[in-house]
Amino acid sequence: MNFDIVIAGGGFAGAYCARELGRALGRTEGCRRVALIAERNVFVFQPMLAEVVGSTLAPMDVVHPLRQFCRNVNVLQGVIQRVDWAKKELVLDGGRFTRSHPVGFTHLVLALGNVTDLTAVPGLAEYGWPLKNVADALRLRAALINRLEEANLVDEPAVRARLLTFVVVGGGYTGVETAGQIYDFVREVHRFYTNLRDTQPRVVLVHGKGELLAEIGADLGGYARRVLVKRGLEVRLNTHVCEVTAERVHFAEGGTVEAHTVISTIGNAPNPVVLDLCRQLGLDAPKGRVPVAPTMRVPGHDTLWVAGDCAAVPWEDRGEMKLAPPTSQFALREGTQLGQNLARVLRGAEPRGFRYRYQGQLASIGKHVAVAEIWGGHFRGFFAWWLWRTIYLAKLPGTLRKLRVMTDWTFELFFARDLGLVFPPHEDVLRSVHLEKGEELFRRGDPARAFACVRRGSLTFTAPGEPQLLLAAGSVLDEDLLDPAGMWRGDVTADGSGADLVIFRGRAFDLLRDGLRLVRR
Ligand SMILES: Cc1cc2nc3c(=O)[nH]c(=O)nc-3n(C[C@H](O)[C@H](O)[C@H](O)COP(=O)(O)OP(=O)(O)OC[C@H]3O[C@@H](n4cnc5c(N)ncnc54)[C@H](O)[C@@H]3O)c2cc1C
Repeated sequence: MNFDIVIAGGGFAGAYCARELGRALGRTEGCRRVALIAERNVFVFQPMLAEVVGSTLAPMDVVHPLRQFCRNVNVLQGVIQRVDWAKKELVLDGGRFTRSHPVGFTHLVLALGNVTDLTAVPGLAEYGWPLKNVADALRLRAALINRLEEANLVDEPAVRARLLTFVVVGGGYTGVETAGQIYDFVREVHRFYTNLRDTQPRVVLVHGKGELLAEIGADLGGYARRVLVKRGLEVRLNTHVCEVTAERVHFAEGGTVEAHTVISTIGNAPNPVVLDLCRQLGLDAPKGRVPVAPTMRVPGHDTLWVAGDCAAVPWEDRGEMKLAPPTSQFALREGTQLGQNLARVLRGAEPRGFRYRYQGQLASIGKHVAVAEIWGGHFRGFFAWWLWRTIYLAKLPGTLRKLRVMTDWTFELFFARDLGLVFPPHEDVLRSVHLEKGEELFRRGDPARAFACVRRGSLTFTAPGEPQLLLAAGSVLDEDLLDPAGMWRGDVTADGSGADLVIFRGRAFDLLRDGLRLVRR
């Protein structure tokens, strides 16, 4: 497959670029000459994901099928493995049966945004819940409901408190909106859990800076914090998470919070496909943002264009030159303008520089309260919340979605949020686990339902009448440590500076057990 223009990424920048270009070229020419490559066949309206977590919106409300959104271009679903610039080709993994599918291009648009990388904080990748796409939002919603269900079963106050404590890391837009939604959701539905009526859920918002919502200004950030605290959330400023385990969040400044659920809104990392292409071209892309000319063309590479969060686009703000901020508002405008620029280039005209008048920023803090900065004016409270809903509704693509969201929001004013869980029970066949020193993995007499492999650190195996075993990185915890009844013969505890493990459960456990038996026979 070969195209004149391939747009990589179906987010704000890529989808709006494809739509604009398709409009300019028309259906026949557009589908023949332009391809939009997207990991999923939907455009995700990320600013509304927190509402899916809080059960005020259904998942299908916040996505729009790309084939309906960009009707005049060829939409290809797949994960881009790599761009080969010398061959002017990218390699696409279309699924189980179409791996390594080459797609050739003359012009390439990179609109791949960034990715989530939680590995900077030990244990965060294992226990932190990211919020980047609809699947993350659904998994997180399911986790909140499962914690309530489990807490309803147990009597021990400490276990129940841990199950009902939710820690949100990051006090930017996503963190504040997610913390507000989680708090509203668990407070509102927990009255339906008969055994929990005397226990209040706890939501802790942890932020490394001195005030929330640094992007929108200290006065609105301070207002948001005061409202959240007054409603019962705990806000910890100037606090950095340094380690997360199955039961606890540790802070660099000292202290811990006991919780089983940690939501991470930090950890944006450069997209590996973008970084790899930059390496091929010898480009320096600080924080994964490729420097481009105001036309969004990469200097020295006439057929490479970049927009959205993975681009560093020069932008004139009231006479001052800056880089366009990595937000949906800018990604959308950059994508639209890039689509027009590419249409001009195909007609032999010169592309135009990016120009945009900054509109402002909004953040909902839950329960009909928001903060907003619009054209320099600061708004707070109910009016800002009304603005938030009106503006986001206007920006949401598709009349059907708009109507659905309007209906859901109206019902939410009068009815309790939905706490139904139809998601299939989540079985992690392969899971990574982080233990701090002294934490137990298995106890003597526990039935073996999983095997484990030590990735980093070490554990000790202590069984009565046996010498203590040190299980270093590379060790496998399997049948050798079981008694004839299939129970663990001893206690397994993290040693030294803790341990990272891979756990094999369910089908993976069965396969590994059978495989090991075969090898050892
Ligand atoms: C939960 C959340 C809430 C947010 N709230 C706000 C807000 O209130 N206001 C605001 O202005 N901004 C908000 N943002 C930020 C905003 O969503 C981003 O700035 C915007 O999405 C950037 O657009 P983009 O097109 O550059 O990247 P994205 O929208 O992230 O799109 C990138 C696309 O590339 C695809 N992709 C990546 N790698 C590959 C690959 N290898 N192969 C194929 N496809 C690939 C991804 O699947 C994705 O579809 C929020 C972000 C999140 C996650």
